[in-house]
Order: sequence, then structure tokens, then C-alpha cells
Amino acid sequence: MSTTISAKMSELLKDPSLVKTGSLINGDWHSSDATFDVLNPYDQEVLVSVSEVAKDDMSQVEKAIASAKRAQQEWQQKTAYERYDLMMAWFDLMIQHKEDLAIIMTLEQGKPLKESRGEIEYGASYVKWFAEESKRIYGDTIPALASNQTIKVIKEPVGVVAAITPWNFPNSMLARKIAPAIAAGNSIVARPTELTPLSALVLGELANRAGIPKGVINILVGSNAKEVGKVLTTHEDVDKFSFTGSTNVGKLLMEQCASTVKKVSFELGGNAPFIVFEDADIDAAVDGAIKAKFRNAGQTCVCVNRIMVHSSVHDEFVEKFVEKVKLLDVGNGLDNVDIGPLIHPKAADDVRELVREATEQGATIKYGQLLSGTIQSPIVITDVNNEMQIAKTEIFGPVAAIQRFETEKQAVLLANDTPFGLASYFYSQNASRIERVSRGLKYGIVGVNEGLISNAAAPFGGVKQSGFGREGSLYGLDDYLNMKYICTTYEMS
Ligand code: ADP
Repeated sequence: MSTTISAKMSELLKDPSLVKTGSLINGDWHSSDATFDVLNPYDQEVLVSVSEVAKDDMSQVEKAIASAKRAQQEWQQKTAYERYDLMMAWFDLMIQHKEDLAIIMTLEQGKPLKESRGEIEYGASYVKWFAEESKRIYGDTIPALASNQTIKVIKEPVGVVAAITPWNFPNSMLARKIAPAIAAGNSIVARPTELTPLSALVLGELANRAGIPKGVINILVGSNAKEVGKVLTTHEDVDKFSFTGSTNVGKLLMEQCASTVKKVSFELGGNAPFIVFEDADIDAAVDGAIKAKFRNAGQTCVCVNRIMVHSSVHDEFVEKFVEKVKLLDVGNGLDNVDIGPLIHPKAADDVRELVREATEQGATIKYGQLLSGTIQSPIVITDVNNEMQIAKTEIFGPVAAIQRFETEKQAVLLANDTPFGLASYFYSQNASRIERVSRGLKYGIVGVNEGLISNAAAPFGGVKQSGFGREGSLYGLDDYLNMKYICTTYEMS
């Protein structure tokens, strides 16, 4: 089986050797006869075939965990300053190769090149942030009960971290797990999805080039998610598990982690409301909704899922929103459009089915039409209500579903009427309302007069069935550290 990259891909890259076609285990690149194809979601063209890490035989996964365990012993002995230097060398390489990394991402994931560039910077920003934070892993001393005693709290790495990540942000979802894990002195075995393995593997290649020691970062690629996931979540030598993906898969993996009582964090699905109050700056709300809805073709867990507009400004909002939506270009991500293809044809069909079902139940298509294949231009539908499936599940496509409300109380009730609790947004100019609604929304993240809420300095994460744990911010290392309390009694002179 050939693992040569397609001529087109090779031509587009300044450094084609950044494309790796097998797993990174203990610093080396694994190859096998069994392979899977990585497709361009725009035209389904095969970009490259990649070696499977494990079909039936889990020995490579075992090897990765063993190498992570070995490497962690030495890695944790390094000073925070040594870890900082190595992580910053890794960060520098990401920025240096930004354009190639962005092209690789657009080819395998589909998002517009400008968004891919943004994601590379965003992913790298977590590496820089946590490199800095590694120097600030402080402990405490606590007043003791006896005069000849000290009570100390120190923070220690958990050990070996395992992580599973999705395809919608193939660089940053991984970077924001690897970075805090290794900054805290852990090693990691990560399994990105088989849909976008190249953006993950290139991070491994750059880590090698940066001089991060062998075995500290292991990246396993293969189509056998279930079995590899089983090993990662049940292995005695994996101390912590971190997952980003759907709530259903998250629940299953959480259950698997229970067998060895792992420390866990889960970043699961969302169902973000976007509330436009009657006192909002409507133009600003339209801009915010466009950004928060159509980024990554609507395929993000913080994407606006339910737009709720006060009836007194509903028609004005819809009219202005549709005018802006009309300006969005759709097509091949490499052509610098605003919206690229959806990840695969089935995902696009699922989105269209949600729209069809909603219209059968009374929703109206205000703008757009249902296409076929992975390309789907934006659609705006109105007369949606919370009982429709489109309001209950993550749409994960470029469909804006708009509903009306009459009172603030009703808006907050409707917004909270979901098992999910990741991101929420609202627009208002009234200071008291901003305070009330910010507190009333049962979400981990609230954007007030703001549609873009993700950055490395802020704690990203959800409540309810959107999961727990926080990524980024000064809190982001907590998930990767254990607290140790040391009580010392000493002889008084
Ligand atoms: P999405 O809908 O975003 O693809 P999933 O939860 O299906 O969300 O996938 C997220 C990640 O979890 C992907 O890397 C996928 O391959 C992996 N995955 C899916 N099912 C399982 C499973 N049963 N065990 C382990 N990993 C899984």
C-alpha cells in the first residue's frame, strides 16, 4: 500500500515532509500494511493513505502507553524553565510553518484557508499560554493545628494522559490538550479522529523538530476508534483521560474510565442559544450571529444553534441577517471562500434532513436552498420552536434557525430548556438585564454582545451534559495536576 501524498498536496506545500503517514510512537513514525484513506471533503479526492495503528492487534497502543510512561519519569524531572524552552521552540515552529499547516488543514477538513490560518494561531496560542503557565504551578502553605507542624500543598503531574479529539478543530482541540498536559509534567498518548489525522501528526513532527523528548507526545492514528479508545480508557498505566466529542460517545468513554477510576475531563456537545433582546444593537447582533453561526460551516460545539429574537425586533433582525448571509461565498476552502464543505456527505445530509423536518412542522425557509453532496450554502429558517428536532440537537451545518420570544423570563427559560450547557450568547444594551441574564443562563460560557468567545486566556468548558473540566486559562492546568497535601511534624529546639 502506498502512503505517498497526492501530487496536488505536495505541490501546495513549501515543506511536504511535514505530512506524516503513520502514528508517532516513542518519537518514531510507525508504518503498517493496513492503511486508511484521508479524503478532501470538497471533492472526495484521496490526499494520502495513512498507516493504521491498530486493526485487531493493540500492541502499538500498548507500546505508546509504555513509552509515555517511561518518558514521563524524566520529563517531570525537568524544571519548568526547561519545559518552557522546549514548548516555546514547538510554538515557534508552528508559527513558522503556519501556511503549510493551514493548507494541510483545509485539504483534509475543508474549512476556508483564512479560518485554518486562524486555527493554527489559536492552537499555537495554547502552547504559548501553557508554556508560560508551567512556571506558575504554585502550591500553598496552610496554618497548622500544632506549632511544630507544617501543612503544605504541592501540585504534581498526574502521569500519563490519554486524549481523544474530533475533526472540527483538528489542530487546536489537540493542542489544547497536549499543551497543558506536558506543561504540567505529564506525557500524552493522543488519538485524533481518522478524518483529519494529518493536522495532528504534523504537530508531532514539529514537536520532534523542537526537541521535545521521545515518548512525551505520542499520536495514534487509525480507523479503529472503538478498540483503541477502549485500551486508552481502561489501561492501568493511563492516569488521566481527556475527551472532546459528542455527548453520547463521551458517556460511553466516561463509563469505561470508571473501571480504573481515572481523573477525567469531557468537553461534549452544545446547543447554544443566541438571544437578541429588544434593546440590542441590532446591527452588532447580526454581525455577532453571522460569526457565531457560520464559522467552520456551522460545525463547532459553540456554534449558535438557536437564534431567539424578541418579537418587536424579529423582522428587522431577520431582514438584516439575510442581507449579510447573502454575502457569504461557499465553495472550496482553498479558494478563500467564507464557507467550505461539510466534513462528509452523510453529515451534510443529516443537516438537510433537520431542515426538511422543521419545515414539515411549520418552519419557513427565508433564504437558501437544500443542495446535495458536502457543499451546502447557508440557509435561514424562521418560525422555529424549541420542540423541533433542529432546536434540540446540534445542527452542525450552515443553517440559522430563528425563533421568537416575548419576555426576558421566557427567553432565559427557553435558552435553558436543553440538557446541554456549553456556550450561550445574548445582545442587550441594558446593564441590569446584562447582569440578570448572564447569571440566569445555565451555561459554562456566556458571550454578551460578543459572538467569538474562544481564547487561550479564558476557561473553555461546559456544564450539564456538555461536560466538565476547563481548557485554557489559569484554571486549565488543574485538570492535569494532582494536589498533594504534606503534613510535617518537626522537633522544636
Ligand atoms: P463527532 O460527531 O464530533 O465526530 P464523536 O464523538 O463521534 O464526535 O467523535 C469524537 C472522537 O471520538 C473522534 O476522534 C472519534 O473517532 C472518537 N470516537 C467515536 N466513537 C468512539 C468510541 N466508541 N470509542 C472511542 N472513540 C470514539
